[in-house]
Amino acid sequence: MRSHSEVVVVGGGIVGSSIAHRLASTGVRVTVIERDSIGSHASGFALGLLNPTNETGNIEALNHLSFNLHKQQLDVVQDESGVDAHVLTMPHIELALAESEIPDLKVEVARINAFSNFKSSWLEPDEVRKMEPRITDNNYGGVLVEDVIMLDSYNLTLATGQAAEARGVDFVLAEATGIVYEKDKAVGVAVGSDTIACDAVVLALGPWSGTASLWIDIDIPIVPQKGEIVRVEGFEHPLRIHLHGMVFGDSCSVVEKADGATWLAATVENGTGFNVTPSGKALESLSQRGMRMIPELESHQLVLHTACMRPVASDGDPILGKVPGKEGMFIATGTGGKGILLAPVIGRALADLITTGETDYEISEFGLDRFS
Ligand SMILES: Cc1cc2nc3c(=O)[nH]c(=O)nc-3n(C[C@H](O)[C@H](O)[C@H](O)COP(=O)(O)OP(=O)(O)OC[C@H]3O[C@@H](n4cnc5c(N)ncnc54)[C@H](O)[C@@H]3O)c2cc1C
Repeated sequence: MRSHSEVVVVGGGIVGSSIAHRLASTGVRVTVIERDSIGSHASGFALGLLNPTNETGNIEALNHLSFNLHKQQLDVVQDESGVDAHVLTMPHIELALAESEIPDLKVEVARINAFSNFKSSWLEPDEVRKMEPRITDNNYGGVLVEDVIMLDSYNLTLATGQAAEARGVDFVLAEATGIVYEKDKAVGVAVGSDTIACDAVVLALGPWSGTASLWIDIDIPIVPQKGEIVRVEGFEHPLRIHLHGMVFGDSCSVVEKADGATWLAATVENGTGFNVTPSGKALESLSQRGMRMIPELESHQLVLHTACMRPVASDGDPILGKVPGKEGMFIATGTGGKGILLAPVIGRALADLITTGETDYEISEFGLDRFS
């Protein structure tokens, strides 16, 4: 463990690893402190979908910027690390499972086509089945979006971490327990009885970000949101489509990934605290949702059932930028269900802020100061 780094990043999920990689790419000496292991929480168990077209609102522009950055740097981090992130490009179908969904979904086609790098069209029910005959005939059509990306989020996090390491980042497997200040300037991170001296600290603790409230004397309004995913196998031919729909009022993705398993994702459960025990209720619910879209899934065998936690802010938006009132303190969290997608833009924006004090990426509305 180094006794001094210019920047210490607390948290070795996709967010902390991306910031470290970007900082190291610009020549900054960085230490990442990770309590468990790289990508051992949500970053390692996410679905791995990169689709910036499925969300509107104030985060939409960052989603698209980050998608484009992924396209530029996926090869870079895989080459630098030698880790294959199992990147697949595939079509996405947003399936209408009720007639009442048709008008709103048809509006989506024009909205998505406004982005120059995405093509979208409306598929009638028979066209849906022509693209993929295993999809239920009890469908009302769907929105086709060409070329979304599906990858292995654990491998991507590992690739990003190892690429950062190859650029000189020091990874320390330990728990950060506090910040050392001189007046209101961060000068170190406490790790048990040791201190790593530094000029700047990034808090990237994911769903545990709230515990750092005590370190900065400001409430960080982040809670864990439980999400479960079921993996099954049994298809004779690969299902190379990311199929998504609203089933019984709940969101459901069905996709066969590079590991050969079909992933049914994901539940959204609030108020469970840090409990990540997979539940029978989620298994039943995800199976039912999947079978509504692809009836043949009924005969498939369970391979793996996982649960992890999204870091969610009280207003649902990310928390990115400087910590108010504390010199040299930065925060990056609250990425909810989009952290894998957002990681590259967060990496760049935070690295800019730390090294130059400003960034061209429009993150000002996501500051921690919005809660004060
Ligand atoms: C079921 C599910 C599906 C998802 N699917 C997608 C998807 O398809 N696409 C997408 O873009 N996003 C998806 N997400 C969201 C994405 O996984 C998260 O937004 C992202 O992983 C959060 O990354 P993070 O680095 O902030 O947090 P984490 O991955 O939780 O990492 C935080 C790290 O901080 C460490 N830590 C905490 N406290 C300390 C401490 N005191 N000292 C040292 N280390 C500490 C933890 O051990 C942990 O490793 C999904 C999430 C879930 C739950």
